[in-house]
Amino acid sequence: MNAHPYEPPETQSQHLFDRARAVTPGGVNSPVRAFGAVGGTPRFMASGEGAYLTDVDGNRYVDLVCSWGPLILGHKHPAVLEAALKALHNGASYGAPSAGEVELAEEMVARVAPLEQVRLVCSGTEATMSAIRLARGYSSAVNGHSTGRTKIVKFAGCYHGHVDSLLAAAGSGVATFALPDTPGVTGAQAADTIVLPYNDTEAVKAAFEAHGDEIACLITEAAAGNMGIVPPQPGFNQFLADICRANGALFVSDEVMTGFRASREGMYGIDGVVPDLMTFGKVMGGGFPAAAFGGRADVMQHLAPVGPVYQAGTLSGNPVATAAGLATLRHCTPDVYSHLDATAHQIADLASEALAKEGVPHTVQFAGTMFSVFFTGRPVKNYEDAKTQDTKAYAEFFHTMLNHGVYLPPSAYEAWFVSAAHDAAAVETIAEALPHAAKAAAAAEKSH
Ligand SMILES: *Cc1c(COP(=O)(O)O)cnc(C)c1O
Repeated sequence: MNAHPYEPPETQSQHLFDRARAVTPGGVNSPVRAFGAVGGTPRFMASGEGAYLTDVDGNRYVDLVCSWGPLILGHKHPAVLEAALKALHNGASYGAPSAGEVELAEEMVARVAPLEQVRLVCSGTEATMSAIRLARGYSSAVNGHSTGRTKIVKFAGCYHGHVDSLLAAAGSGVATFALPDTPGVTGAQAADTIVLPYNDTEAVKAAFEAHGDEIACLITEAAAGNMGIVPPQPGFNQFLADICRANGALFVSDEVMTGFRASREGMYGIDGVVPDLMTFGKVMGGGFPAAAFGGRADVMQHLAPVGPVYQAGTLSGNPVATAAGLATLRHCTPDVYSHLDATAHQIADLASEALAKEGVPHTVQFAGTMFSVFFTGRPVKNYEDAKTQDTKAYAEFFHTMLNHGVYLPPSAYEAWFVSAAHDAAAVETIAEALPHAAKAAAAAEKSH
């Protein structure tokens, strides 16, 4: 069913997808993987090596998803593999502290100046959920009443994981599927979330004027990456930090995607804006489930066991994940970031040339070494702009790239990720695929 016209009949991926749909809603464990926005059958992957993925039918693809960001060194980097295997040989999990957790925390604190203390968790969702609980708990302690401030501010098109209160007007899969406020989130949770347009200082001012003493924190992606890459306008993050400080709210910078990726020190390394709390995931886990939140020590001291705000996890600080994460960060040298930067620009230029040649309206945007290609002619500074994309043209572009051996994100609302393993040969495969894909996108544009 719903095979894309470009797809060969009877593939192993199709068989697996049929089996998967019988036992798992939609056949996937994270919605965007289902290819819902581009149509066709998701490819079931069998292995990854360097810049390449191989699916269960033996097709090889240059991977421009990189597990949605974590695989900054590519698949199966020898040092990461060795570190994970070595840790695993010692034991999978202890339920007690181990040295790797300390080393990973030290590495992060050493790299990112505003990070005085961190708490390790297993996913970015857990990190932002915990940061928000901490911000609310902190506000109750400093204001001396039991409930504290309840409201949080977020931006439309920013995704912070599937935390109930943060799903309002979220990016990533919520944007891909154009989901309204998702069922299952209570009115109270939604009512405590103030959603504003990204890069709009006037809207932020108005929200603080109306609710200043009720706002526990403002959370933003350090550079928006989950509606495609939308960098903060110059001065925007500093403005957010300042207005939070002036109103006694905490400024939470979500660097789950940008952390150790946009630059060696994430977006903080680019704009130098000091948040009160930060969240991390993706790169810091090296492909394993490790994430973190952290920031000002005096705020972090409100967490259990020293403070009253509860937060815990059976597998938090898992030794295999922390070993892989630490090995990844240690191999993210300045050379790696120059390579990512050069390769991202090379691929972006090639994509832009191919699309321009076929007259397909598009906009390429960067945040440090991260980039995405929007299928709209207008500059994208917020979610409203991002939604002007021609998603049908993207779907044809996507499937043509796939047929020519390039695995792009199966949604127009996502960043394209490169790794240290994306070499000249990988770029050449992309360069050869692009003109075909641009033609397909142009044909799709004309047909509607
Ligand atoms: C991916 C992401 C998350 C959620 O992380 P998970 O590990 O998928 O739960 C949160 N915030 C941002 C900015 C992200 O990109």
